[in-house]
Amino acid sequence: MKIKDILTPADIPKEIQGTPVETLIRCHNFGEDRKQYDNAEILVGMCMDNRKVLRVPDNFAYIIRTAGGNMKYSDFVISYAVALGKIKAIAIIGHDDCGMCGLHNRKESYIKGLENAGWDKDTAEQHFDSFSPIFEIGNEEDFVISEVKRIKNRYAKLIVAPLFYRVSDGLLSYIEE
Ligand SMILES: [Zn+2]
Repeated sequence: MKIKDILTPADIPKEIQGTPVETLIRCHNFGEDRKQYDNAEILVGMCMDNRKVLRVPDNFAYIIRTAGGNMKYSDFVISYAVALGKIKAIAIIGHDDCGMCGLHNRKESYIKGLENAGWDKDTAEQHFDSFSPIFEIGNEEDFVISEVKRIKNRYAKLIVAPLFYRVSDGLLSYIEE
């Protein structure tokens, strides 16, 4: 698996050329914004992380933001965007330094933080222990690829693309298997 940088339009992988995923990358990475959209073309799934923001044209995209860009609990709303929004493509965007990767390293801060918000320590610890295994994503790139495979199985006629957002420069790249 390899992250392919997209620093010029010539770097756009052939798998996504001519698709709304290419448009997403052109708008976000290169500031292209020539067309007006009346309807959505794409559904984007990405992490809720505050360091990330997408540059997309008005009306162009449905965007679902979850912890780690985990789409496992969003099946119904993905289907909504597919069925009623009539999107043609789905992009799942992972990113580096994701908080949902290696959650056990943040257990103490998580519990302390909740105590500061008025929780008692035991409840906070139980909360962490119950939910962290569900939200842990493991390796960021592997997780995106596994989500893309899962979603592709459900919507075989749609393009589903694995993308990666680098927090340091805010650019989108493509995950090649
Ligand atoms: Zn994240």
